[in-house]
Amino acid sequence: MFTTEGLANPTLNQLETDVYAVTPAEAINLLDQFELNNHDFTPEEQAKVYFLYGQIHEKLRQLDLAISSYDKGIALVKYLPISEVLIDSHLERSFAWYLKANDPASYCPDRHQALEYARNYDNAELLAKAMTQTAFCFIEPDNVYKGIDLLDEALLIVDRSDSLNVNRKAMIYNATGSLYRRVGLHQRGYENFQKAYETWKTINDIEDMFNMQHNMVSQAIKLGDWDKAEDNIQQQFELARQATKPNDLLFFSHLNAGRVALRTFDFNQAVLHLEKAISLKDTTKEQYFVTSGYLYLAIAYVRSGNLPRAAEMAQIFRQNKNFPANMKAMFLKADAIIALAAGESNKAANLFLEVIDVEREDNQSIIDNKVLTTSLDHNIKLASFENELLANRLAINELNWAAVADKERISDLKLTLFLVLAIVLFSVILVLLHSRKTLKKRAQTDYLTGLSNRGYTFRKGQRIIERAIKKQRPASVIIFDIDNFKAINDRYGHHIGDLAIKAAAKRASSWLKKQDLVGRIGGEEFLIVLDNTTLDEAFTISDRLRNGIAAQSFHFDGIEVEFTISLGVATLSAGQPSNLSDLTKQADDALYQAKFSGKNKVYLAPQCA
Ligand code: GH3
Ligand code: MG
Ligand code: MG
Repeated sequence: MFTTEGLANPTLNQLETDVYAVTPAEAINLLDQFELNNHDFTPEEQAKVYFLYGQIHEKLRQLDLAISSYDKGIALVKYLPISEVLIDSHLERSFAWYLKANDPASYCPDRHQALEYARNYDNAELLAKAMTQTAFCFIEPDNVYKGIDLLDEALLIVDRSDSLNVNRKAMIYNATGSLYRRVGLHQRGYENFQKAYETWKTINDIEDMFNMQHNMVSQAIKLGDWDKAEDNIQQQFELARQATKPNDLLFFSHLNAGRVALRTFDFNQAVLHLEKAISLKDTTKEQYFVTSGYLYLAIAYVRSGNLPRAAEMAQIFRQNKNFPANMKAMFLKADAIIALAAGESNKAANLFLEVIDVEREDNQSIIDNKVLTTSLDHNIKLASFENELLANRLAINELNWAAVADKERISDLKLTLFLVLAIVLFSVILVLLHSRKTLKKRAQTDYLTGLSNRGYTFRKGQRIIERAIKKQRPASVIIFDIDNFKAINDRYGHHIGDLAIKAAAKRASSWLKKQDLVGRIGGEEFLIVLDNTTLDEAFTISDRLRNGIAAQSFHFDGIEVEFTISLGVATLSAGQPSNLSDLTKQADDALYQAKFSGKNKVYLAPQCA
């Protein structure tokens, strides 16, 4: 309340004490008398008297009179240096306006003005009071943080001030809780009401402790935290028990117990508590809560199956014409219950559906508020939150890019792996093919001369003959054998003998075409298969071979060696079935004749000649 520190007039100090001690009507009389008897007031003292008038009129809810009293006082001191009475008059006029109009547009200008004065005036308590009241001018989701900031600042001021005002501190917590509740931040609301409760507890202010417990129950209900709500109700009953003078604490305890029982579906318990609360309705002046109590009771009766009694309670609820019109869902519920009891089930159903819509809308606005008030702790919280979001989005993008890059790297890697595998496989195949070829070749080749070996010579030679037969073209075979080879071995040794075989093979090959087949079929015996070659041609070739060997001596390791070969020739005869085996036999016969007739000769098979 107003402090008398700054006032020198002792009779004025006495007047203030007296005015607050007596009934309002007596107080007005005291003030009138005081004015008549004192004419040498300072403007500040006169303003103080008007302030006291305002207080009493306010108490009597003579709000216009109260406001005009404050007006007069403010007019007297507003051009003087800032004073306590100037600040307090603005704050109290604002309260009168609040009671009269409950419209921020009417009561906030005074609070802003008071705060501006208080910031330029050295009175921590008055500044904290101005801040606390001005905080309630910032109750919209988009500006509530300004109110919270003011309250945080007020709390700092109170904590720093020498004379710790517990009451002020608790009021700041209460105001903070109210702002949070206002924007739907019920957890924070609950926490601040709890702080206010703890603060008032230090001075055992039962009534304010109870009020905070009442606020906490409401927040616990909003949060659906029934354990907390139960605790708070127990605290309320306990505080109601401790209270010394008559009050409405028990009414509120039962009302809240009934509300919580309703929300936890304990309808019989709800009926019991709410009936008890209604029975105590005359102990309270809070008509809003009494009226609400009737609706809660109506709902409890509906839920517990007593429809006539429910309708009765809903009718009583509806009779209060002063109930705030914005509590639309409550009116709808009452009307629905009345309709239901009247058997108008269709109307009732529609009303209940409307209730759902209205409550959904309310919840939606709370959710919106929650989003908006993310900026509560610090003004920049929302911005930093957005930055975080942006950063997260960027990080996600980076991750996406990394993922894309990885994917690309993976496909690169896949391609590389595939290529490597392909190359390896290809190489392996090549190696396998090559070794197969090599092995095959080795299996087909005579180790000494590099010509076809016996087996391969006969297989391949057979195919040549078959093809020639099929194509009806000539083919011939030549068998040749080194003459008197035994003697070479004997004379020069096996090594020279081998070299002689090799040299004979080489020189014979040099006289043949690439496609002609020549193979070693014995020690120093060779078979030649000539495709598309007539007997005459074969004979010519044979004689060229014979001459080629015989005409020129060989040199092995510095040793000159001479030798000759004998040859037998056979050819495919038209119309005569034949194979390589037959031809070889015929050629071999001819070779035998060549040997027999003196060697170094070419003989034609007699069948072919
Ligand atoms: P002909 O003029 O009647 O053919 O008399 P020849 O001595 O050549 O006859 P023969 O077939 O009786 O002798 C062949 C000899 O060739 C027998 C064997 O010791 C020798 N010989 C066979 N294969 C090889 C070989 O791979 N290397 C060597 N150095 N000698 C071989
Ligand atoms: Mg021989
Ligand atoms: Mg021989």
